Amino acid sequence: MKEILEQGLQALELPPELSSALERYGEMLLEKNKVMNLTAITEPNEVATLHFLDSLCLTRYVKLSGKQMVDVGTGAGFPGLPLRLAVPDLQLTLLDSLGKRITFLEEVCGDLGLANVSCVHGRAEEFASAHREQFDYAVSRAVAALPMLVELCLPLVRVGGAFLAMKSVDSDEELQSAAHAISVLGGQVAAKEDYRIPGTQVQHRLIIIEKVSPTPAKYPRGFAKIKKSPL
Ligand code: SAM
Repeated sequence: MKEILEQGLQALELPPELSSALERYGEMLLEKNKVMNLTAITEPNEVATLHFLDSLCLTRYVKLSGKQMVDVGTGAGFPGLPLRLAVPDLQLTLLDSLGKRITFLEEVCGDLGLANVSCVHGRAEEFASAHREQFDYAVSRAVAALPMLVELCLPLVRVGGAFLAMKSVDSDEELQSAAHAISVLGGQVAAKEDYRIPGTQVQHRLIIIEKVSPTPAKYPRGFAKIKKSPL
């Protein structure tokens, strides 16, 4: 894992010292994955590329230093935690509806000495009532289709900030079907960035949805409604 991480960090112009914290995180992830479901990716070099370097590719497109970011449905910490390791003054909230995953993330943060990462057990649509429009960025990977996901994420973002959706390169149709939801919730698509994960031939896409006006107070709705009738 070390070698592929170091090469990837170099390709992304990130400090090589990052690799030791990432390796430790990878070790804890694979160890804990033996007793609870955290990741389907269990080969260490694939953890390095498909989890760590994929997450870190976001640093090419967005300036995170000094910003407040929430990672919605972070699971085992992706993409938020690798980004926080790369950007020490990022104010990060890791949010997930599964308590066991949040407990794991608290353990990782404790082990790596990341005192100011907030690990929150909760559902995005409920978290929004107390944290509405408080974040510069919401980010999310592999949580839901965009028409639903924008209702979970855009209410958390302040006007002037952005929702960063990590998607596949085949997401054109998905993005089209989310156009109405994005506009109703105060968003506007600013960019679609396709990138290749260093050390692989895998291509992914970052969709940047800027928050251009406040989200109407009636959103987000309860999850059952979001799911049954996406905007
Ligand atoms: N983002 C991580 C990644 O890319 O590896 C995890 C993806 S995992 C497939 C989806 C995660 O989203 C799960 O951990 C699940 O508990 C969480 N999740 C789903 N709906 C959610 C919601 N409404 N609020 C918060 N977390 C949610």
